[in-house]
Amino acid sequence: MTERSQNSYTDALETRSPDPESSTLVEMVNLKKYFHLSGGLFSRRQATVKAVDGLSLNIIKGETLGLVGESGCGKTTLGRMLSRLEEPTEGIIRYGGEEITALTGENLKNFRKRVQFIFQDPYSSLNPRMNAGAIVGESLGIHNIAGGKERRMRVIELMEKVGLTEEQTGRYPHEFSGGQRQRIGIARALSVSPDLIIADEPVSALDVSIQAQILNLLSGLQDEFNLTYLFISHDLGVVGHMSDRIGVMYLGKIVESCGRKKLFQNPCHPYTMALLAAVPVPDPGHKKKRLALGGDIPSPFDPPAGCSFHPRCPFRMAICSEVQPELKQRYQGHFAACHLAT
Ligand code: SF4
Repeated sequence: MTERSQNSYTDALETRSPDPESSTLVEMVNLKKYFHLSGGLFSRRQATVKAVDGLSLNIIKGETLGLVGESGCGKTTLGRMLSRLEEPTEGIIRYGGEEITALTGENLKNFRKRVQFIFQDPYSSLNPRMNAGAIVGESLGIHNIAGGKERRMRVIELMEKVGLTEEQTGRYPHEFSGGQRQRIGIARALSVSPDLIIADEPVSALDVSIQAQILNLLSGLQDEFNLTYLFISHDLGVVGHMSDRIGVMYLGKIVESCGRKKLFQNPCHPYTMALLAAVPVPDPGHKKKRLALGGDIPSPFDPPAGCSFHPRCPFRMAICSEVQPELKQRYQGHFAACHLAT
């Protein structure tokens, strides 16, 4: 198990050594998800929310790709499209080289087995009428993987893998703590032997001490089962602790992406700089230069022209309110969408 520091999310920036044989597991090309909302019963006006707006991103087999951004930036919608819980408005998603946006029937069911979700809220993501054993074993039945005694043995094995006991299989969700409920959610995701797990804010509802335990559990399981993670969080500290590469999202677009170490040591985009300035450093003597972010994230109903970050950016220039910057490679493997970085 790769045990990363529990005290600091950012003190060990050495990225897990990438597999030289690594290959692309997921390819997302110009992905868009627009939601059309009506103006109300007596209005003909329709508003369009561009939750994801022309996003291209790859996930390498065996890595953890972190996706970070403020609430409402589109990161959860991206995860839902990738698992086919949401249909893209436009764009391509390839999984293991196969286009998955058109899958139906048995093919879709088989695909869903390969991609599992860990949800943000362990309180509401578990059926309160099912005991832990039934929750963890449910997918084994749905996918005809194991039944009867074999299923029971497999459930016990999974419970133990996530730090729970056989005795706890008969208990109901309300009898567990928040961290234990998230462990049940992780065991449920593991039950069908997926190759990609989308973890959507998996620790944000938990106490800080429990967060570290769950993050270390996820790291250990990744090494043991050769899993690939898409790790979604609003907290760059948590994402930095977990990820090999990081994509920073703002209003439906990736504004910067690169390896974890590069992002923390040499951020190119002012939004990333502001997120970094908000990451706590466990050293009382450390004086950090803060990059103030003015205002809230703009409404996705009416995003600003040009660079969508310009109303909040301390470095904005005249061009920024007129021309949308392209996501370009600034250094090897380091992409940013900012006029400053050209
Ligand atoms: Fe700031 Fe301009 Fe860069 Fe946007 S393009 S992040 S407004 S400097």
